[in-house]
Amino acid sequence: MAKRALITGITGQDGAYLSQYLLEQGYEVFGVVRRSSHFGVADHRLRWLGVDKSVQLLDGNLSDLSSLIRLMEQVKPDEVYNLAAQSFVASSWQQPVLTANITGVGVTNVLEAVRLVAPTARFYQASSSEMYGKIQEAAQSETTPFYPRSPYAVAKLYGHWITVNYRESFGLHASSGILFNHESPLRGIEFVTRKVTDGVARIKLGLEKELRLGNIDAKRDWGHAKDYVRAMWLMLQQDVADDYVVATGTTTTVRDMCRIAFAHVGLEMEGHLVIDPAFFRPAEVDVLLGNPAKAKAKLGWVPEISLETMIREMVDADLTRLTRLSS
Ligand code: NDP
Ligand code: GDP
Repeated sequence: MAKRALITGITGQDGAYLSQYLLEQGYEVFGVVRRSSHFGVADHRLRWLGVDKSVQLLDGNLSDLSSLIRLMEQVKPDEVYNLAAQSFVASSWQQPVLTANITGVGVTNVLEAVRLVAPTARFYQASSSEMYGKIQEAAQSETTPFYPRSPYAVAKLYGHWITVNYRESFGLHASSGILFNHESPLRGIEFVTRKVTDGVARIKLGLEKELRLGNIDAKRDWGHAKDYVRAMWLMLQQDVADDYVVATGTTTTVRDMCRIAFAHVGLEMEGHLVIDPAFFRPAEVDVLLGNPAKAKAKLGWVPEISLETMIREMVDADLTRLTRLSS
């Protein structure tokens, strides 16, 4: 019989790639969608993300434990991937309480539903490199101390530790993937890579003249979402649940990432890029660089798509989309 996987956050970047990957592995896939007051919004978004029609969609919300309990009863999942979150760092200063409730306490709601209804299901928690924050070690691994620098990162740290705690308290097969930034043409437009590739495409097409960014000296370890969802699945195939860093092991400034995007369409970055204080953050994570040695040794996971290839793919996708929209 086909294994059954339940994904929260199916309308997000990772949910889209993970659902596709699991369908290819022969899974029956279920996705949690929260209701919007605007009819058809989720349908439209799922179409844009390319989520396959065979994914069965169910109504639920991370803030409503009863909805999650009902979902577990209905689906009887073999694997649960908790990808849902208020995931944008900058917004977490505007909505700190909501971020704590969904990105933090919401994890406990999912874990409680698993513990009460589906205790043999394997559980994946989407933890984040943002938990390292103010870096104390050159390359961050599973043993690097955490120092969160935003309400988002504080909430993710709670989600990470409650996952570890449910594993140790109740023997749940609960794993936490500490994923470094990962992007794709499906990345939300508010994140810096996609903002850059969309902005560069607009400038190339003559729709805009400039691109406004904040701190371009920040460094990130960027990978491709397609590679990273494979690591999520591999974690749940292990006999023993554990925590893993998933990263490329290379770090790049926002400035250099931006340069790749402009160069791809034959434009100079200088003359188009404007530094705007509005995009600086109250507290910054200056540099992230992951050490994925454990994921490589234990999961056999290595990333396949380079930053350059990914940024070019994203620029091309934005050029295609904008050309279609403006014709
Ligand atoms: P997205 O922001 O693209 O997707 C977030 C998803 O969470 C959306 O489907 C959203 O639904 C859903 N969601 C938000 N609030 C709720 C709620 N109250 N109840 C149910 N669903 C909700 O994130 P990504 O796909 O990029 O990331 C997936 C996960 O991985 C997130 O938890 C993120 O924090 C984490 N992460 C991501 C990294 C990255 O670089 N992408 C790095 C490390 C961790 P809706 O469409 O209704 O808003
Ligand atoms: P994060 O690492 O999860 O916060 O991912 P983001 O893509 O939102 O931001 C990555 C880095 O880019 C951070 O250090 C930001 O401060 C920096 N950055 C610089 N300008 C911008 C901008 O205009 N938008 C965003 N989102 N980030 C920016």
